[in-house]
Amino acid sequence: MNIISNVIGYPYIGATREWKQTLEKFWKKEIEEDVFEEQLKTIRLNRLKRQQDLGLQLITIGDFTKYDRVLDLAVMFNIIPKRYDVLPNASSLTTYYAMARGTDEVIACEMTKWFNTNYHYIVPEYENQELFLTNNYILQQFEEAKNELGIIGKPTIIGPYTFVDLAKGYDEKSRAAFFLKLIPLYAQVIQQLVDAGADWIQIEEPSFTKNLEEEEILLIEEVYKQLAEAVPQANILIQTYFEALTSFERLSNLPVAGIGLDFVHGKTENMKSLLQHGFPKDKTLSIGIINGRDIWAVNLAEAVSTISTVKQLSGVNDLWISSSCGLQHVPVTKKSEQNLPDELYDALAFADEKIREIVHLTNYIQHGTWAKDGIVAESIKAIESLATHPIRKNEEVNNLVKGIKDTDFTRTVPFKERQVLQKKSLNLPDYPTTTIGSFPQSQLVKKTRAAWRKKEITNDQYAAFVKEETARWIQIQEEIGLDVLVHGEFERTDMVEYFGEHLTGFAFTKNAWVVSYGSRCVKPPIIYGDVDWTHPMTVKEVVEAQKLTSKHVKGMLTGPITILNWSFVRDDIPRKEVAYQLGLAIQQEVKALEDAGIKIIQIDEPALREGLPLRKENWDDYLQWAVDSFKLATSKVAVDTQIHTHMCYCEFNDFIAPIRALDADVISLETSRSHGELIDSLKVHPYELGIGLGVYDIHSPRVPSISEISSILEESLAVIPKDQFWINPDCGLKTRHESETIASLTNMVEAAKLLRAQV
Ligand code: GLN
Ligand code: ZN
Repeated sequence: MNIISNVIGYPYIGATREWKQTLEKFWKKEIEEDVFEEQLKTIRLNRLKRQQDLGLQLITIGDFTKYDRVLDLAVMFNIIPKRYDVLPNASSLTTYYAMARGTDEVIACEMTKWFNTNYHYIVPEYENQELFLTNNYILQQFEEAKNELGIIGKPTIIGPYTFVDLAKGYDEKSRAAFFLKLIPLYAQVIQQLVDAGADWIQIEEPSFTKNLEEEEILLIEEVYKQLAEAVPQANILIQTYFEALTSFERLSNLPVAGIGLDFVHGKTENMKSLLQHGFPKDKTLSIGIINGRDIWAVNLAEAVSTISTVKQLSGVNDLWISSSCGLQHVPVTKKSEQNLPDELYDALAFADEKIREIVHLTNYIQHGTWAKDGIVAESIKAIESLATHPIRKNEEVNNLVKGIKDTDFTRTVPFKERQVLQKKSLNLPDYPTTTIGSFPQSQLVKKTRAAWRKKEITNDQYAAFVKEETARWIQIQEEIGLDVLVHGEFERTDMVEYFGEHLTGFAFTKNAWVVSYGSRCVKPPIIYGDVDWTHPMTVKEVVEAQKLTSKHVKGMLTGPITILNWSFVRDDIPRKEVAYQLGLAIQQEVKALEDAGIKIIQIDEPALREGLPLRKENWDDYLQWAVDSFKLATSKVAVDTQIHTHMCYCEFNDFIAPIRALDADVISLETSRSHGELIDSLKVHPYELGIGLGVYDIHSPRVPSISEISSILEESLAVIPKDQFWINPDCGLKTRHESETIASLTNMVEAAKLLRAQV
């Protein structure tokens, strides 16, 4: 029996986000390219060393990136869209970051959600480019690890099926050809790694867990047959994650040396498949037993029992004990969190602690004894003392959730009638313009908040600063000529954290960052108890702003599902129940805003899609309770209170029905980066509520011209009737500079005026 400890990948941002800082310094031209490369190398080596010190046997190489791993692969294969040719004599790094972030001359590639996570990748655009290897960064990293640290790593590469699945620019007919053209390139990368001494190559195929048609399975079989023939000496392990492997019998028999399965998120189905089909005895099986998506310590006894069952059912000799997916979805180490309540701290495991769990389990399975006495009892005690803690037993909230009735999910009057009443009472022009909520969080805003957190300034001083900044931006918005204003969200670092800080049941970390896209990191709150609303959270700021203007100021809240999906959530009760608790809490905040005279209230749900299960057959169940918890928060308002919502980062093409089900009076959507695909889909599925399609990309510093915005408006107006039409940017503006923001919004308002003048 050969048992080896493994993880599928490790966080690259660093324990103190040093990776992010390095990237941003380079973008701001504060460091030259050689210094940048040198600093990245240090970060790369440190993270390898950390994993080695934790006792991990298989250390992954190629899970490090300079922005995004899908983009790395696209560039490596020369899948670079032609539009980047306009950059004169661009170095490869310049082109790389132009694709990621856009420049003044050229827009960025589309960015979208990585499966059902809160990470976003850059979508490869296949334009029939000539495919060849422009570099082999995985090989470079492999040799660096070998030469500098003596580590023979396990290179990882996103697999051809998943890569094609995530890319765009081909159709049904050209898909197979695109696929087959990639195989020699994969073979070349893999051969070079084998020649350099790699024992194992991990090929990540998370798309093998989606629903697959027979035709696709045949294609996969053909592709892997060709690959196996091209690199006969390579030991390839196909790694799946986020769900169970589909078409288990066929895909587990692909001609490779090993298969990795997720026994956390796909546990029941993978078990069933093992029972039904067994497992090819000559292959290595990697058991994804430690949850790579949550922060909870494992119950070691339960893990051993699952591993034993898998071992028995599969009958294999070679096992890897592994994480369920790459660990970049969890923070680096809980050691940097010394201010959490003990009952919570003890029940946590971040990436480093998860590696320790894997190492312990591997030892135990191999030798039958634990490396340290009492660790199993300790793991169980930690879980139990949190389970029985009073923070998890708020009777009042539990009773409210039990008492929810169907009528709590519906507004009293249908949209068509509300629309008429709201039009009268709100007095807005045609094509109203608005923004999504936040305005630039300048250095000053960030510095002042930090000083307040460190108690260097008083609560009153901080409040006075926020008030002043809000007033300044109310004036700027009036000058620009926007129709529905916002207060700017200067009191918030983050749209989820802010609410969590005011509700019960949440805990906050100091350093528990995870990457969301590019260098942007988020610090998800931890929902570890029952959620309760105890006081108004947003009323003061919005009301103060409203006093300064005769235009409407939107109340600005984060919706229950986004709070849920962007937090680390307790796993002792169903997510649906946590969602309802959150829905009730937001309902009370909506009421507080209404009571204070606010007529337009936006409840953002950018993460609604994120919670979608990977398998279509499980969508309805999730969407039912997710949409219901939004409606729980929004259905109790007066007929003429206008409910807005906002969504971004997601593909809407197949998502129009759930969006409609929210029954929000107005929705603003991010669209400029999916280049009009939504418009095509609105042609087929007309939408009858208020809607604003984002008219420019806020992820890029580029200022859109009036004519560019006008042409987007024109396209949108072909599918959306005038009386439903709103004009807004793609998303909140907090990451942009003031000058860019003013210039862009001014152009947006100009474009609206031109439209109104057209009649
Ligand atoms: N209201 C939030 C903001 O403007 C929305 C952010 C988001 O959708 N991601 O920042
Ligand atoms: Zn957004």
